[in-house]
Amino acid sequence: MIILNRIDTLKNELRQITKDKKIAFVPTMGALHEGHLSLISKAKKENDIVVVSIFINPTQFLQGEDLDTYPKKEQADAKLCELCGVDYLFLPNKEMMYEKDEILIKAPKTKGFILEGEKRPGHFDGMLQIVLKLFNIVNPTNAYFGKKDAQQLSLINQMVKNFYLDINIVACEIVRENDGLAMSSRNVYLDKHQRELALNISRSLNFAAKAVGANKTNSTLIIKEMEDFLSQYTEIKIEYITIVNREFEQINTIEIKNSIILIAVKIGNIRLIDNIWV
Ligand code: AMP
Repeated sequence: MIILNRIDTLKNELRQITKDKKIAFVPTMGALHEGHLSLISKAKKENDIVVVSIFINPTQFLQGEDLDTYPKKEQADAKLCELCGVDYLFLPNKEMMYEKDEILIKAPKTKGFILEGEKRPGHFDGMLQIVLKLFNIVNPTNAYFGKKDAQQLSLINQMVKNFYLDINIVACEIVRENDGLAMSSRNVYLDKHQRELALNISRSLNFAAKAVGANKTNSTLIIKEMEDFLSQYTEIKIEYITIVNREFEQINTIEIKNSIILIAVKIGNIRLIDNIWV
């Protein structure tokens, strides 16, 4: 594996080596876990060259969020990437990724400003800005994203469409701990008690999915059942529970195989998101 931290070297390398080859790209913020590794392993199977980036992108963090404390494990991450057969690990820094006064990408007014976009205003603008830059540096055939960040995935698909990017976006399944907790780099913030509480997030989603499986398709009722279940745990503060279709439009009736039940909660200061595709 080659580790690079210069944009021009990475571009030159890829240009020379990748004629007629499929390049996969897996952008991450590091502190890699099985969720990330599942993206990498899918990328490895479906392509000739795999490029992974690790960059904690400052523009997608809001004031007061965890930019400074976001977990960093550069050496362990590099080792994992090497073991997974990653060809290029790109570790840029913020000085090379941003100028002071830039042309800015704006998330779309509807899809970009609901749910995560409403709770974290500006987050998606920063995310799209960096993903577009990384896409242009790597120029991948296929780019891999987790369904865990469903709204992010949807916005990236829209960016590809709106800007006519010649990149295939591959949506990857959510990887969970054995007890159901969706893997996340931020899970390390949870203490033992908070982690126990957090299990109720996926439990509530599973109940909802079961209800949908039993042909209950009224979104309001499903959401109410999830809220009632979670209300037993006063330390879980619900930010939102909602149901959207694959186009991310909020829907009153669940469309089987075309809907996503999304939840965001806070346990103490720790914000967790999860979802289930039904
Ligand atoms: P992050 O490092 O959190 O920015 O995540 C990088 C990529 O990994 C994103 O496409 C995420 O959606 C994806 N990802 C994060 N957690 C998981 C998970 N538990 N299962 C599948 N993909 C994930």
